[in-house]
Amino acid sequence: MSAYWSDFVKTLDPYVPGEQPKQTDLIKLNTNESPFAPSPAVLEAIRHETADQLRLYPSPESDRLRTALGEYYDLPVDHVFAGNGSDEVLAHLFLSLFRHHGKQILFPDITYSFYPVYCRLYDIDFQNVPLAEDFSIRIQDYLALPADAVSAVIFPNPNAPTGMALKRAEIEQLLIQRPQWVIAIDEAYVDFGAESCVPLIKKYKNLVVLQTLSKARSLAGLRVGFALGQPELLEGLVRVKNSFNSYPVDRLAEAGAIAAFEDQAYFEHTTREVIATRDELTEALTRLGFVVLPSKANFVFISHPRHDAAQLVVALRSHAILVRHFRLPRIASFLRVTIGTKKQCETLIKSLSEIV
Ligand code: PMP
Repeated sequence: MSAYWSDFVKTLDPYVPGEQPKQTDLIKLNTNESPFAPSPAVLEAIRHETADQLRLYPSPESDRLRTALGEYYDLPVDHVFAGNGSDEVLAHLFLSLFRHHGKQILFPDITYSFYPVYCRLYDIDFQNVPLAEDFSIRIQDYLALPADAVSAVIFPNPNAPTGMALKRAEIEQLLIQRPQWVIAIDEAYVDFGAESCVPLIKKYKNLVVLQTLSKARSLAGLRVGFALGQPELLEGLVRVKNSFNSYPVDRLAEAGAIAAFEDQAYFEHTTREVIATRDELTEALTRLGFVVLPSKANFVFISHPRHDAAQLVVALRSHAILVRHFRLPRIASFLRVTIGTKKQCETLIKSLSEIV
């Protein structure tokens, strides 16, 4: 007879992260990391921190980091919540503000696949709202649903994996027309050309914006993310954090993250480079017959009329290039390709021109 827990364990339906290969000679365009090293100031700050600090616990409230982020975004420190990667901040959000029994949370179909995973794990009722025909998120579709049945909306802007962004004014309509809903905007990729909702935070009590250092700050390995919002809303996240992981940001991560935000010139240089490469890659892919959705992120979402995306993944792998494919009910077969260095993208185009 099997133990009760062995069946239960199988009911957990976890997120499956993209491959992190041990092999170092692959061109890795599968998990939307930055192709650039972090600012040298980050390593310097981490090295400096080690002296006599590591025997001590970090600040439970990540005070130094929250103060630095507050200054950067022109918000009071109590408008900032920090965590161990934005996936963890999302967990705090789902566990606090999204567990409103008897109501649903809404997010697009398709979107970041961690959202349904958290909903299932934390027993949160959710509804998918299909994307429009052109793959954009349509705010009217959210407003058309019965307001009383819903407690919150979350989506990335730009959306993942499409890369398509909404304008701030469109999101503001949702904030204005549904003040009783929590509106969570996941801005993991916002620095690559979308309009941030951070300037709306002082105006709307129901807005929470999530950001990460994993993309435009080149620090996916450090695990730092944060939420910005009014303190009444963030209090939910703080209460969950204090019941769950009271020291989310370790001392090295806090020091490195602060240094990353201090080196504005490096951040601007590397994001500009990614954007320029994305636009060149978009043109080259279009010339090869791909449909390329208009991306404001550090990746492009593409399909080819004559080639199945899953087969393209295999073919590219034989050229030592890693990308991801998505097969979804309506969106038959798409590849998501992270923007690498110019040289990596040239190699990708060369390989694809042999394949398609
Ligand atoms: N949100 C979105 C939309 C993402 O794509 C990712 C990265 N996979 C995250 C959040 C999480 O990023 P991290 O935990 O590295 O901060």
